[in-house]
Amino acid sequence: MSKIAVTGSLHYDIMLDAPHRPEKGETVMGSACHYKSGGKGGNQAVAAARAGAAVRFAGSVGRDQQGQFLRDFLQQAGVDCTAVSVIEAIPSGMSVAITDAEGDYGAVVVSNANQHIPLETFEQPGFWQDVSLLVLQNEVPETVNLCAARAAQQRGIRVCVNAAPARPLSAAFEACIDLLVVNAIEARDMCGISVQDLTSARAAAESLAGRFARVVVTAGEHGVAFSEAGETHTLVAQKVTLVSTHGAGDCFVGVLCQRLSIGATLREAAEEANRAAAEHVSRQPH
Ligand code: ATP
Repeated sequence: MSKIAVTGSLHYDIMLDAPHRPEKGETVMGSACHYKSGGKGGNQAVAAARAGAAVRFAGSVGRDQQGQFLRDFLQQAGVDCTAVSVIEAIPSGMSVAITDAEGDYGAVVVSNANQHIPLETFEQPGFWQDVSLLVLQNEVPETVNLCAARAAQQRGIRVCVNAAPARPLSAAFEACIDLLVVNAIEARDMCGISVQDLTSARAAAESLAGRFARVVVTAGEHGVAFSEAGETHTLVAQKVTLVSTHGAGDCFVGVLCQRLSIGATLREAAEEANRAAAEHVSRQPH
């Protein structure tokens, strides 16, 4: 079976519900507290596995309870964690998010062990066995992404990069990318076009198509634009009752890559991801 390799971040997420987010110097009494597995790498690996993909994950955690929780969670979702390294004396990645009564949230992330993924991971032939697609994001150092992407390229494995959060990409790394997936903010940072609807999402996808073979621009409640082989198309978002947009992008990328790994066209994969992400935003995040 064709496998997906995901390399990226694992964060132990603490999610606090509060009537409003604190102002400077304010202590707010919250109403609930949730602990969950997070980090774009882990989230996308789990989304792809739940969609039916065989997923192998490369990342790092600390030798702590949070790291054990993160590995257990991925394994229970069916993700192969044999390439997750345990880093001594550095804590696991952490995130604290505060969600207000309107469902808007703010978060602080500390990368910790995610900064220390061993590059030797990508020299292990076993890591690449049966892999047809590598999935990367921007929450780990670009040295890690470049090393993984080059190792994939040498083996003829396609590389999908979800360039989130936005940061400048080196020319060497851009040259390894077969498929770029960005949201409105990342698209604006990469091509200067403000994405506010499907027309501007299409313009952003067309602009980025000059630099990447295949491009997907997600535009939240508007839907998606995708571009390949000189053609750009759009998909309208499905109408759902919004509960929380938290993790919509990770769900989209996971499902998109699962479909691509079983031979779907970019249109077929984007249609399924658009449907799954809409369902995701209509559910409680935890
Ligand atoms: P997040 O950072 O919140 O996880 P994102 O900014 O990376 O998400 P978005 O572009 O907001 O990603 O959303 C990804 C996809 O999720 C959209 O392209 C769409 O398919 C789906 N989606 C998001 N919001 C909605 C919505 N309100 N209704 C239906 N589908 C939605």
